[in-house]
Amino acid sequence: MDDKQDWFDGYNDFVKSAKVKGKCSFCSTEMKPVNVVGLIFNRDICVCDNKECREFLQVCLKPGCDNYAKSGILPRPLCKWCLEESVPPVAKTILKAVGMASTAGLTLYVKNKMSDK
Ligand SMILES: [Zn+2]
Ligand SMILES: [Zn+2]
Repeated sequence: MDDKQDWFDGYNDFVKSAKVKGKCSFCSTEMKPVNVVGLIFNRDICVCDNKECREFLQVCLKPGCDNYAKSGILPRPLCKWCLEESVPPVAKTILKAVGMASTAGLTLYVKNKMSDK
């Protein structure tokens, strides 16, 4: 029973720490995101609090940074600002190309699915 309580407190702290005010990598607005799926992916995924944005976010992995990274694509998400700091221009171009390619791939996949039947 004590173990359960510890786990719950730990999770509570985790959720609290995930809701620190920070900047969204999509809309650059400073907001407090809404935590949606903390435990399912063993990673806290939040939604931007900006009504115009509502994108999925993850806490930036750089220690001491309170901003929020775009959720999903990168295994170690960094916010827009840390990413710009840490990625050399060449790698940035590659990332962009990969992003564009996967979008094109997805579009193709959806098209194929739709013309299936
Ligand atoms: Zn946003
Ligand atoms: Zn950051």
